[in-house]
Amino acid sequence: MDALQMRALSAIDEERGALVKLADDLHAHPEVGYQEHYAAERLTAFLRERGFQVQFPYGGVETAFRAQVGADRPTIALIAEYDALPEIGHGCGHNLIAGSAVGAALGAAAVIAELEGSVAVIGTPAEEILYQTPGKVRLLRAGAFSDIDAALEFHPWTATGLLTKDRALVSLNISFHGRPAHAAADPWNGINALDGVLLTFNAINALRQHIKPEARIHGNITHGGEVPNVIHAFAAAQIIVRAEDRRYLFEELLPKVENCARGASIATGAQVEIVRASEIDSTLNNPVLAGLLEQAAKECGIPFGAPVELGASTDFGNLSRAVPAASFMIDIGLPPGTAWHSREVAQAAGGPGGHRAMLNAARIMALTVLELLRRRELLQQAFAAFQSAVK
Ligand SMILES: [Zn+2]
Repeated sequence: MDALQMRALSAIDEERGALVKLADDLHAHPEVGYQEHYAAERLTAFLRERGFQVQFPYGGVETAFRAQVGADRPTIALIAEYDALPEIGHGCGHNLIAGSAVGAALGAAAVIAELEGSVAVIGTPAEEILYQTPGKVRLLRAGAFSDIDAALEFHPWTATGLLTKDRALVSLNISFHGRPAHAAADPWNGINALDGVLLTFNAINALRQHIKPEARIHGNITHGGEVPNVIHAFAAAQIIVRAEDRRYLFEELLPKVENCARGASIATGAQVEIVRASEIDSTLNNPVLAGLLEQAAKECGIPFGAPVELGASTDFGNLSRAVPAASFMIDIGLPPGTAWHSREVAQAAGGPGGHRAMLNAARIMALTVLELLRRRELLQQAFAAFQSAVK
């Protein structure tokens, strides 16, 4: 390791206590998507005190922010998330994502004067609300990443390695409009919208035998009618459909799922309305950026294990199709197979295993930023790989 790298890492070490305190503070104040006022305030105050130029709110999103040091382009973005789950709190460990991005930025900031370019922490709210419009999708629409040359993100996990696979997702809002009538006196005058929803679920369950193993379909009834003695005039559900292969998802599976609802409409006579509420892409991990993260991890003494394949989805996928981007995971001390989005994860995200992973992630990303800002050809290679992947 050379002197510049050592200085970046010791800047992170000097702030170790403050970074742990920051992550624990977020952990103790869990906020769900788009309500992360406390977290965004804390993070921006922390970075402002350390000389970062802060835009808050950012991109027209109230709890988003951007905090930057350095001069001009290229600009490397370190992605922070900080939303929690209802009831469970930080059961996805997003407090550690925020802490790692801030830590990495402090490391890079310590040597930024000797590099060409800048580093920006971009605070992206509401990652968990993939079935509506999550933060990165709103920020992308607002052009909030248009001057970003590369983006890096850490996510806590039960293993350590590069993210290589996740699922594209489409969320459907399906509603049925029927006709009310007395449920006992003259039910023949009514059209039961709830039956439209129930038949949709049953038809999807019949379809399930014929979907590819990588696909997932799951949902809930959001409106099941009003009272039991009136034929339900309105009922609604949200259904999430996921697959690794984007083409399979959009061209084959989604039309079949939508036909389940259309079939239910024919069977019941209730009119169906199908709205695609949200589209999330699968992640394209940029091979050049991923290679640098892997190298940095080795230098930090925490080599990556097998590539991580996630069953889930993230709006980082949408970001990865707009700018060269890479994501990696570090285990927070939980055995593989531990249920995610759980109290066990929430506990680890506020404990020594989580802190250790967060600080290591900060070190890995700081070293990666350094390489990108002092060897300009790497960014060019990353961009070329990005262009051929999104083609
Ligand atoms: Zn998460």
